[in-house]
Amino acid sequence: MGFCLLGNVAIAARHAQHQLGAGRVAIVDWDVHHGNGTQAIFLDDPSVLFVSLHQWPFYPGTGGPGEGNETTINVPLPAGSGDDHYLAAFEQVVEPAVRRFAPELLLVSAGFDAHYEDPLAQMELTGDGFRELAARCAALAPRIAAVLEGGYNVGTLPGLVGSALEGFRSARSSSTSAR
Ligand SMILES: [Zn+2]
Repeated sequence: MGFCLLGNVAIAARHAQHQLGAGRVAIVDWDVHHGNGTQAIFLDDPSVLFVSLHQWPFYPGTGGPGEGNETTINVPLPAGSGDDHYLAAFEQVVEPAVRRFAPELLLVSAGFDAHYEDPLAQMELTGDGFRELAARCAALAPRIAAVLEGGYNVGTLPGLVGSALEGFRSARSSSTSAR
């Protein structure tokens, strides 16, 4: 749709399955835009769970209520949603779905364009919110990796990536299971 030349996270998922022996792969996409390309690639593939949280209605227009299936789950959120809204969506939708799927690997489409200072969207996530989302993702699977997606404020982006890395690491260090 003009933002991505390659579907990074889809390539990572297929590589994990075909080259690294991963069976069930889950993708959590918290980029502010609907992950329409990732959805299209895995829509009919029950070995990959795709969960997208995104501003809706918003570009590119897809990912609305009721769109998806058992392994394609959309969580459209209204403009103005902040940390509390995202964490509630995690508790009510994302975490139960991923636990039910029981992935061997969790991949995160880590966009930072839902931050309150991003110029492209109207969401209100903070650095603390991204840190918490990352920690919660890391707690959902024995292995986790993330790819950088959107984020259009180059002044805040490095700090937000740092916050997410702190979250991924905090869950890792507090877990008793091997990662
Ligand atoms: Zn985006």
